Amino acid sequence: MSGPLTSEDAPTVETTEPAAPTPALELLPSREAKVGDLRVRRALPQRTRRTVGAWCFADHAGPVSANGGGGFGIGPHPHIGLQTVTWFVSGEGLHRDSLGSEQVIRAGQLNLMTAGGGVAHAEEPTGRSGGELHGIQLWVAQPSVTRNGDAGFEHHAALPEIELDTGRATVIVGDFAGHVSPARRDTDHAGVDLALRPGRSVLALRRAYEHAVIVLQGSLSIESITVEPGYLAYLGADRDEIVFRTETETRALLLGGVPFPGPILMWWNFVARTTDEIDAAYEGWKSGDDRLRVTSSLPPIDAPRPPWMDQS
Ligand code: MN
Repeated sequence: MSGPLTSEDAPTVETTEPAAPTPALELLPSREAKVGDLRVRRALPQRTRRTVGAWCFADHAGPVSANGGGGFGIGPHPHIGLQTVTWFVSGEGLHRDSLGSEQVIRAGQLNLMTAGGGVAHAEEPTGRSGGELHGIQLWVAQPSVTRNGDAGFEHHAALPEIELDTGRATVIVGDFAGHVSPARRDTDHAGVDLALRPGRSVLALRRAYEHAVIVLQGSLSIESITVEPGYLAYLGADRDEIVFRTETETRALLLGGVPFPGPILMWWNFVARTTDEIDAAYEGWKSGDDRLRVTSSLPPIDAPRPPWMDQS
């Protein structure tokens, strides 16, 4: 349900400052974007905050009516150098990829696709679900040691759940409060879904991680700020706990990770280091590379021409 990036999201020259190794509290508005017919709130990347750990992209969609597809569905398109993390609050979708994977995902389950040196996938409506569609797709930048490696796909139907005083935490990726997700992880990062009842929640954090919060439903207060859907709250690093106050039932994602080493270059559906790598991925998709073939009911998405190709 996410992508592609445009130059509005990410200038083609990476400018991320290293994360301050101190606590921070920044409320950053998401950008409205459209993915196919679906309106999304793009919480990452931010112009001033490009990554949170290895988390480099986040599109929050819905809730919207899922009747008749609800605008959900994006045809085959390629990725390199990233993992897609797909997570539904409600509704369902069908993932198909060039590895031959075909997997329905429902609320509370994880689809994790690793692009490595190249993969393509489609995300389709199942045609079955009524009700509403509500979800988020995030990207995780792959480190140098795996980013040119094999593609992969994992589906996790069940994930570790932790009862909190004020709700429930589900460990999507990484570990939290002593519970470890079975999902593949190439860098030191974590993603946790929080389903909170009204009250005061104290959550333990890792000092080595920088953290951010995206609210999917409801709202929560952190110190002096209130976070609602449509914002990213950046918390900085070097915190050993955080206190959330909620007055209504609230769903939120807590993202964390060791600040990502070195600049990345993000363009369209690609996470790379150089424009040459992006050019090669663009040419591979345009030329109909057999390894990127996806069986789908939707038409493939054309890659836009990288703007720098016409500048030299
Ligand atoms: Mn995609």
